[in-house]
Amino acid sequence: MEQQALLVRMHEIDNVAVVATRGGLPAGQRLDDGLVLREAVPQGHKVALRTIEAEAQVLRYGVAIGYALQRIEAGAWVHEGTMRMPEARALQNLPVATELRTAPPIEGLSFLGYRNADGSVGTRNLLAITTTVQCVAGVVEHAVARIRRELLPRFPHVDDVVALEHGYGCGVAIDAPDAHIPIRTLRNLSLNPNFGGEVMVVSLGCEKLQPEKLLPAGSIPLVDERAVADVGASAEACVPVVRLQDPAHGGFNGMLDAILRQAELHLQRLDARRRETVPASGLVVGIQCGGSDALSGVTANPALGRAVDMLVRAGATVLFSEVTEVRDGVALLTARARDHAVAERLVAELEWYDAYLRRGGADRSANTTPGNKKGGLSNIVEKAMGSIVKSGTLPIDFVLGPGERLGPGQRGLGFAATPASDFICGTLQAAAGMNVHVFTTGRGTPYGLAAVPVIKLATRSELAEQWPDLIDVDAGRIARGACSLDDVAREILDCILDVASGRRRRWAEHWGLHNAFTIFNPAPVT
Ligand code: CA
Repeated sequence: MEQQALLVRMHEIDNVAVVATRGGLPAGQRLDDGLVLREAVPQGHKVALRTIEAEAQVLRYGVAIGYALQRIEAGAWVHEGTMRMPEARALQNLPVATELRTAPPIEGLSFLGYRNADGSVGTRNLLAITTTVQCVAGVVEHAVARIRRELLPRFPHVDDVVALEHGYGCGVAIDAPDAHIPIRTLRNLSLNPNFGGEVMVVSLGCEKLQPEKLLPAGSIPLVDERAVADVGASAEACVPVVRLQDPAHGGFNGMLDAILRQAELHLQRLDARRRETVPASGLVVGIQCGGSDALSGVTANPALGRAVDMLVRAGATVLFSEVTEVRDGVALLTARARDHAVAERLVAELEWYDAYLRRGGADRSANTTPGNKKGGLSNIVEKAMGSIVKSGTLPIDFVLGPGERLGPGQRGLGFAATPASDFICGTLQAAAGMNVHVFTTGRGTPYGLAAVPVIKLATRSELAEQWPDLIDVDAGRIARGACSLDDVAREILDCILDVASGRRRRWAEHWGLHNAFTIFNPAPVT
């Protein structure tokens, strides 16, 4: 029996579509519009929907992913051997604000969240312990175990305690020009909406990153005067600090007692918080992909893109990232920039990253892998488009540098410039203020964060079937014809609202799978 032909065309002007049918399609297969395949086309690969003349553009995602080397007949297999890759796009003379799509708002979407004094909204109620330096990590780990055992049972409305442990803080060129990136990342992590504005710091005492440098007075918009009054924070820092080298603590057990005393004050206030109905504008959804495959740009990422459009229309903020995976699609992004200032900021971040890579003797590693090509990705342009598609179609409202936090008025769709590295990207999105994380994966990763709930989407059903207790949404059903992109988009949206409201824990949270926060430090280590 002839298999059902499932083709995914991303944009109305596209002259190729991707075969989504599991196992691919045979030669002679009749397609919906009467077109007949001239040859077998594997899953994830492209078929010409109409004749493409030599040197004409091969259009996918509405952009030229290549130029035909010779005439390609309608119904033929389009692969990297049939087209020439476009030149790398320079960062000059880009289209700006030329593709500003409007869409009607979606009214009435809400979730149950914890309102914070600064206007942000938490999706979890967590005590975070900020650390200035790696030296204190072992002591803090013991303190966290004791807090869980001895204190949390008395504060049932607090979800957990999270140590913001990291490898930064000393042995680094703390005044180097790029050191502001790791420092502001740590500062802004401690202000993540899921920590309720309760900032407490554990410091060693002699480290380069002194508490006053990490959290100088006035640097925190939500400085809690009660915390200062309770424990007498130092005059320079605006938050209470437990310094392990303080002679008053004595040794190890005295340090733990001091941290627990401090933690208890914060737990009392956190425990009094309750969820309330808040509009979708309280959501800050960070999106990224990791372990991508050819179906990433066919199933999970476009479905996520449609969910992102709905989120933004409902008033939510969405952050997309991963500089090296969008670099080749820069013209698409500047065309969607809300105005010239946003486009200039975006280009400045990409220029900074180009220079950062050059300093390290690298480039954006523009070569697709043999596995990518086998799976149907012809070149880096097509790969970048498959990554960008998860940002949806709406205008880009703002841009954040690495480790920057959402500012007043920065709402809607934002590009948060980060490396593509999964854990560094997640860390920087958490510093930006993310309160729900959506992660698409093809090869599969058990990724999770302690501070922010993570929802994982599989690009293919084989992975979802292999990992039924790790994957939350199977976007591979799109490739099986079991549901549409819009079906999965609505499922993602419902899932986000459920998870944000604490109604349902997804697998990473269920199992307590927590990747370490990983600080991006482009400055020298001494
Ligand atoms: Ca990634």
